[in-house]
Amino acid sequence: MDADPRPTSALLTFHSLDRTGSVISFDPEAFRAAMEALREAGVAVVGLREALRRPGSIALTFDDAFVNFAEEAWPVLARLNLPATLFVVTGHAGGHNDWPRQPSGIPRLPLLDWPRLRELAASGVELGAHSHTHPDLRALAPAQLLHELARPARIIEEQTGFHPTAYAYPGGLANSTVRSGTAALYEVACGTRLGYWTGREPLHDLPRLDAYYLRGSLGPAHALTGRGRRWIALRAFARRIRELLQGR
Ligand SMILES: [Zn+2]
Repeated sequence: MDADPRPTSALLTFHSLDRTGSVISFDPEAFRAAMEALREAGVAVVGLREALRRPGSIALTFDDAFVNFAEEAWPVLARLNLPATLFVVTGHAGGHNDWPRQPSGIPRLPLLDWPRLRELAASGVELGAHSHTHPDLRALAPAQLLHELARPARIIEEQTGFHPTAYAYPGGLANSTVRSGTAALYEVACGTRLGYWTGREPLHDLPRLDAYYLRGSLGPAHALTGRGRRWIALRAFARRIRELLQGR
């Protein structure tokens, strides 16, 4: 057994910033408080690739590219100068998250269109690929799989001039065939498996930490209105992040 503590970073996964309370939703006010808490706690919030090189750091990733990323997340992140990676479902840009096999209870929400994605890329958001139609990649025939892996990078580059080097598997679902596909096309690929980066995980099966598991550490958003209570919530969130970074 290796008794040495492993260096750990965390790749946080957010989906939608909205007030529905669904499993993919993070309250916008709690998000703002969380980002300020990270700042106040002195945690290094860095880009996805840099988090893999820098123990004790955090990278922020956002799946599906909801319109509310531009409305609720990016203004906060830009103000605090925190980087983010946004994973785009290229065949649904400008549409909705109405792909098949959505679990029940997921709200139908608008997704960013190309003009807005272009603006975000120009303002420093890293764009990543999140498939073309959000299928279960494991179930696809080889030609279809290649389409879902390779086409998003081409489209993102054509539409925004930004060449994506990161991929996120829809639903976090992949197998060895899928992973060899992303390994040939992208520098890194993220799943949604709960875990921390210790430097030992495969680059095309990066563990992430879903923000869903951090919601409790901040408490309900209405508890954040009083100054003192908000400070306590911030401290709790910062502590939780530190614990997670230490693998506890
Ligand atoms: Zn997704």
